[in-house]
Amino acid sequence: MPIATCKRCGRIFNRVRRDICPACIIEEDGWFMSIKTYLHNQNDASLEEVAEATGVQPEYVADMIRDGRLLVRDHPNLAYPCERCKKPTQSGRYCASCSKEIASRHKPK
Ligand SMILES: [Zn+2]
Ligand SMILES: [Zn+2]
Repeated sequence: MPIATCKRCGRIFNRVRRDICPACIIEEDGWFMSIKTYLHNQNDASLEEVAEATGVQPEYVADMIRDGRLLVRDHPNLAYPCERCKKPTQSGRYCASCSKEIASRHKPK
């Protein structure tokens, strides 16, 4: 079985399918459930509000959105900052305009 270092807590574990260890997966699942429950009642909550209400760090909430675990379709305010311009975005690492700009820059002339 492949051995990996958990990217969250640094523990060594037998890698199954994710790059975090089983203990962190359980913890994350717990967070995920509280976030889901909170959002169920607060459709228009922002990322900060979710983090504050559930005690989950904002970057982990952002990770869940990026991974597609949290569906933002029903939550218009659930956005995290673009890595480039810090404008709120709901998918990928960059906002729509940055993605476009980056893509066009790599296009051959
Ligand atoms: Zn871990
Ligand atoms: Zn951007």
